[in-house]
Amino acid sequence: MTVPPDPVRFVDLGAAHAELASEIEPQLLEAMSTARFIGGAAVDAFESEFAEYLGAPHVVGCANGTDALMLALRALDIGPGDEVLVPAMTFVASAAAVSLVGARPVFVDVDPSTCLIDLDRLERAVTPRTKAVVVVHLYGKAVDMDAVRRFAASFGLSVIEDAAQAHGARWRGARVGTLGDVGCFSFYPGKNLGAYGDAGAVACRDERLAQSIRSLANHGRDSHTSHSRIGMNSRLDALQAIVLRAKLTRLDRWNEIRRSIARRYDEALRGTGCTPLDRTGGDDDVYHLYVVRVRGRDAVQSALRADGIETGVHYSTALHQLPAYDADLSLPAAEAIAATVLSLPMHPHLTDTEVERVVAGVRRCVRA
Ligand SMILES: *Cc1c(COP(=O)(O)O)cnc(C)c1O
Repeated sequence: MTVPPDPVRFVDLGAAHAELASEIEPQLLEAMSTARFIGGAAVDAFESEFAEYLGAPHVVGCANGTDALMLALRALDIGPGDEVLVPAMTFVASAAAVSLVGARPVFVDVDPSTCLIDLDRLERAVTPRTKAVVVVHLYGKAVDMDAVRRFAASFGLSVIEDAAQAHGARWRGARVGTLGDVGCFSFYPGKNLGAYGDAGAVACRDERLAQSIRSLANHGRDSHTSHSRIGMNSRLDALQAIVLRAKLTRLDRWNEIRRSIARRYDEALRGTGCTPLDRTGGDDDVYHLYVVRVRGRDAVQSALRADGIETGVHYSTALHQLPAYDADLSLPAAEAIAATVLSLPMHPHLTDTEVERVVAGVRRCVRA
């Protein structure tokens, strides 16, 4: 009897650690024995290395990606009575952060071929209360930031980039997260740049905004004894910074591997009933997720699971239809996407054999 092979993992953080172990384990032990856990040299070094990588004048580390968005919104003075435009297809945190600062997310439908915010619909969603737009570089693909900036300038809105899925992605050569007023990153373990726990960061050009974010993230503190505003406790810790520094040196190479896996999937899935998203200009895409649209998605996902292939669904419900929002709206593209998207295994430690198993499995399951 032959033993079935191990499943093809959707993400494989163990394989990533194996690559990093000899480099970071001594540093983590050293940091533990010196007991400097919050802030310190590793955090300062990571902030400046990530700023340099992005080409952003300022980076402020924080506790997670949701806090990064909340800090950006609060620093831009967005709160009760304000409206913020948010795509209806994204991770819930893109909108929850808006709600958590007391403002109202206004859901905008997405483009059915890319799943990114539909730029033609932005203008119609503007009201006198609109203060900002949160653009999400969903699945690792940059939104057209020229169009977003033109739109925002013509209505006097702030632009917040949710780059939680797009570390290293570019728009016309510039890294995403540097193209709006504030760029927000999550380092949740499964992201392209992931910590060993929760972590996040905010990038911006304006020095006063950066200072304001740093103070808000540290209890609203301006000096050791003075607190001018009610802030949060949202700081990056030293152990996470050690991990992030090591992974940052590998990010471009890992993203290049993701792109080459995506090219193989693109080519192999042509003519099957599985339609990859439109990733025209995909050279700057970092494929946090490789998403296809397929009819009978749930059945295809079960068949793949039985075949030893792990997949994901991002996301099974458009935000306006979540119980948390339950908005009386019809956003047909986001709703159709929620019913048909399937994310195939995608991480930089997938082997060629595993990629071929995914391709063969998809061909079998979609035909069946
Ligand atoms: C992961 C993610 C977030 C939230 O990040 P956390 O670190 O989990 O708080 C926000 N937006 C998007 C698009 C994400 O994928």
